[in-house]
Amino acid sequence: MEIAIVGTGYVGLVTGTCLASAGNTVTCVDIDARRIEELKRGVIPIYEPGLADLTRNNVDANRLRFTTNYADAVPGADICFIAVGTPQGDDGSADLQYVLEAARTLAGHMTDFLIVIDKSTVPVGTARMVEDTIRNLTHHEVAVISNPEFLKEGAAVSDFETPNRVVVGYDANGAHGDRVRNTMVELYRPFVGDDRPLVFMNRESAELTKYAANAMLATRISFINEIANLCERVGADIGDVSHGMGLDERIGPFFLRAGLGYGGSCFPKDVRAIMHAAAEAGCTFHIVDAVDRVNEIQKRRLADGVCRRFGSDLSNHTFAVWGLAFKPETDDMREAPSIVTIDRLLSAGATVQVHDPVATQNFMHVAERTWVPETRARIVYAPEPVNAAAGADALLLITEWNIFREPDWNELKQEMRAHVVFDGRNLYDRWKLEEMGFEYFGIGR
Ligand code: NAD
Repeated sequence: MEIAIVGTGYVGLVTGTCLASAGNTVTCVDIDARRIEELKRGVIPIYEPGLADLTRNNVDANRLRFTTNYADAVPGADICFIAVGTPQGDDGSADLQYVLEAARTLAGHMTDFLIVIDKSTVPVGTARMVEDTIRNLTHHEVAVISNPEFLKEGAAVSDFETPNRVVVGYDANGAHGDRVRNTMVELYRPFVGDDRPLVFMNRESAELTKYAANAMLATRISFINEIANLCERVGADIGDVSHGMGLDERIGPFFLRAGLGYGGSCFPKDVRAIMHAAAEAGCTFHIVDAVDRVNEIQKRRLADGVCRRFGSDLSNHTFAVWGLAFKPETDDMREAPSIVTIDRLLSAGATVQVHDPVATQNFMHVAERTWVPETRARIVYAPEPVNAAAGADALLLITEWNIFREPDWNELKQEMRAHVVFDGRNLYDRWKLEEMGFEYFGIGR
């Protein structure tokens, strides 16, 4: 099939690359000229395991192209995906300006019937709105589908290639219902099977499924973080508690790891968007509201612990920060707990020595937007994890990248000024560290 993808971010680029690998001809269009220029030169603008090689292979095989011009992508396409950002608006709602702009622009380049697939995470009713927008601008027939994306950053390629399920929301009774359904079956045939179903429903249900799934996952994270906080007060260990809970097959083991709360480009904004949408529909979402508040508190826990241990004036203190990305295997810094932690330490006068295997560049952009130059001067970028620890009063583990799993504690002991570890992801063996003379603070242990 001929496929156009609007937006070449984490979702659009992965979708385009994986669909090209399945034998389709894909043209990705983006308004970010620099990004497209890089992609044309073979430079992949995001870090996602396996993506770079796959993208280049498909480009070499002439199945994948990049452009800033919709006219190179939309005419002649059977399907056009919209995979642009839907950031949080000022009132917490999803900001649809990029989705609607993409819809208006692609409408102007249609030459025939087109199936438009909304892959961006959008509130209920958006598919209809996009369809109306396009119909007002072109005499060509269009069918707009909701096909939310469930991939996880850090495992995006494998999640796309072997999804738990593919959800398709379409208008079964519309003029093109059968055609749309058959096209979706053909498009996703390489990726679904008996244990990976292709699930059809109406568009509203598909749109809500995505928000409901993210709200549920965020709820599990905030829930286990609150249990962890209780563990600390009553002498229980969150590792044992979540293991014991997760063995119940009605509960399951996933998303029950206590830590520093969720971040990233999806959960925070999607939780707020579903709250906003519920309020607009006349429902109050008590649980999701609490989930959001718990998460904000949880992000501050490590810095709170540092201040309890070292005092609120940290001007003569240096801290090693391991991990900046909101989770391992990504360079995405959006809503990362590291920003909250580092902000608190810098505000208290501390110097921070940071290391992340891939997110440092993106963190630097965040730092430029967040702190004035005098404050930024107290951020030291360490080339290796051990360099971050040199002269530090404590080591803060924020993102559980594999390279941080088995450090040489004897070497760290020699490098550090004081032997204190704040383990924001419960990665380390507390007893071993205490035996070696480290002071250890985990989450819920
Ligand atoms: P992103 O910010 O990484 O990428 C969006 C891209 O769209 C950017 O490159 C931007 O330049 C481009 N763009 C914006 N307006 C455009 C226009 N009018 N025409 C062409 N290109 C345009 O975003 P993302 O993380 O890929 O997320 C995209 C959507 O998918 C969001 O709704 C998000 O909530 C959802 N989603 C994201 C993930 C994830 O893990 N990142 C997972 C599932 C769903």
